[in-house]
Amino acid sequence: MAGEPQADCLFCKIVAGDVPATVVRETDTTVAFRDINPQAPTHVLVIPKAHYPDAASLATGAPQLAADVLREAGRVAEEEKIAAADGGPGTGYRVVFNTGAGAGQTVFHAHAHVLGGRGLEWPPG
Ligand code: C5P
Repeated sequence: MAGEPQADCLFCKIVAGDVPATVVRETDTTVAFRDINPQAPTHVLVIPKAHYPDAASLATGAPQLAADVLREAGRVAEEEKIAAADGGPGTGYRVVFNTGAGAGQTVFHAHAHVLGGRGLEWPPG
């Protein structure tokens, strides 16, 4: 059922504390932890505690929870001091939801990548 923990889901296991993660923020509904394979000086994943396979199903099934994830992404950026918008390299950040294997999604529990701390090119690869 949508939102219920999935036994074979890595991020559900992180929520349950069964798989370790370096948690930087936690709320009643979300967890934010450092990516184990960082692609930038700051690379944090923000996930809903409830299981939704991707961002679109999260936004459709639990819009307030989707908003919680986006709010937390912004708070992570503030705490990591990458949110300043003065135009210099490493100021400003990117929030990415890879959606579908063809777009690079490998864990099918919705998550926002928060990336920053260096200049970010556009378009992404
Ligand atoms: O968007 P995608 O599904 O590929 O993102 C999954 C991310 O989860 C990867 O960046 C990967 O490094 C990260 N990961 C993690 N901790 C794990 C397993 C994967 O941070 N135990």
